[in-house]
Amino acid sequence: MNLKNKVAIVTGAGRGIGRGIALKLAAAGASVVTVDLSLVDCVSAAAEIKDKGGRALALTCDVSDAEVVAKMIADTMTEFNQIDILVNNAGIFPFKPFLEMNEADWDKVIDVNLKGTFLCSQAAAKKMSTGGKIVNISSIAAYVGFSGLTHYCASKGGLNGFIRPLALELASKKINVNNVAPGAIETPGASTGMTPELKKQTEAMIPWGRMGLPADIANAVAFLVSDQADYITGQTLIVDGGYTLR
Ligand code: NAP
Repeated sequence: MNLKNKVAIVTGAGRGIGRGIALKLAAAGASVVTVDLSLVDCVSAAAEIKDKGGRALALTCDVSDAEVVAKMIADTMTEFNQIDILVNNAGIFPFKPFLEMNEADWDKVIDVNLKGTFLCSQAAAKKMSTGGKIVNISSIAAYVGFSGLTHYCASKGGLNGFIRPLALELASKKINVNNVAPGAIETPGASTGMTPELKKQTEAMIPWGRMGLPADIANAVAFLVSDQADYITGQTLIVDGGYTLR
């Protein structure tokens, strides 16, 4: 993949899958804006890219806040004067049984995972003057039910619905819109509450025999944001080691 002269924004880039994506796109030559809630984490991701000879800008941003997103896009334009790639990766998955879930629990997950994707996509697409690529990190939770995650599964299912009309609307601007749907990936977020026994059970459900790594998802994203994927739009690519095959 050659992403030289491209500017990429990756949300939730401070750790986990987002950090893996940010590093991969930077290694392919893109200048990367590492967006995260945490200042320490987004600065550390940008520093890692710079240490490896890449170009990066660290910005804190809550993707569910329209004003803050507008500032993040404006700061990106001030620094790089273009946006070619947006990866909507920031997401949360707090387990809560349905009968105990309150309105605030529901709203928080939908706001970050679904509304955040809408806000960032719209603000970034307006600046993609010579075409562009938008990739959202969905989940196999869009297809499989996970107990305690009704809000999360709904948010990721929403992303599947979101990309088809968006891909249609943005085709005339030569902006591709696709999803990558990861299976179980080893990240700080996913390891919360993951006992060795639960990890074993999870691995037993994956035909490939292991949980995925952030690099597995980053490789798929790097393809979809490259010119090799110019004719692919409105699609969801499942990257799960075969988890959803049976
Ligand atoms: P993670 O380790 O928890 O990392 C998520 C990152 O997103 C954190 O750096 C977090 O910042 C940031 N973030 C959270 N809320 C944000 C907000 N409102 N605005 C900006 N940044 C925010 O999670 P992950 O496992 O890498 O997951 C990344 C994405 O992959 C999510 O969309 C998730 O749903 C999806 N996914 C993950 C798996 C998996 O098994 N890991 C499977 C399928 C899909 P803070 O640390 O400051 O909170």
